[in-house]
Amino acid sequence: MIDWELLHRQVEECTMCPLYRGIHHKVPGQGDRNAPLMLIGEGPGQTEDEEGLAFVGAAGQLLTRMLAAIELPRDRVYICNVVKCRPPNNRTPTPEEAAACMLHLRMQVALVRPKVIVLLGASAARATIGPEVRITRDRGRWVERKGVWMMPTWHPSALLRFPEHKAEAWQDMQSLRAKLTELGLYRDIYGGGQEG
Ligand code: URA
Repeated sequence: MIDWELLHRQVEECTMCPLYRGIHHKVPGQGDRNAPLMLIGEGPGQTEDEEGLAFVGAAGQLLTRMLAAIELPRDRVYICNVVKCRPPNNRTPTPEEAAACMLHLRMQVALVRPKVIVLLGASAARATIGPEVRITRDRGRWVERKGVWMMPTWHPSALLRFPEHKAEAWQDMQSLRAKLTELGLYRDIYGGGQEG
């Protein structure tokens, strides 16, 4: 039987790749554990490493605003990353590091059982959809796997560095809102009868 306590202990004790050396905190992820929507980023940055929480630095603040733009309070979604330990100097996790951490991510998906997953950036999209994903080409495209709808989009850190992509990210958020509405999720926010 898997449960949240097991997941958190497993992440805390994990030494499956070398990233745990030199971190301050593991960053398992947080949010609504019953959320229909899960967001997956790449890995903790400095602020996340200091606080032990996902997406709490500058990129996280932008993510909060992106969600607010489609009226989604951040505490109504579950947020985590592909790797739970900060890579040195915020480098991209290697495919081996991402693969070692998939055990935890798979368990999180099994526990939350989201209907929709938004993949923030190439690392998250490649770890979940496949190594062939290119954000420039595939962002905004919905893929259905085992009844779960997944969409890659720009990582908020990329948007901070290249604001010219914000218009596309905005389109993707509108597409997310349309998908959540179509599936009858967050009915208290998007309408459609009973809450769900
Ligand atoms: N970038 C990520 O991918 N994840 C975080 O938690 C913060 C920044």
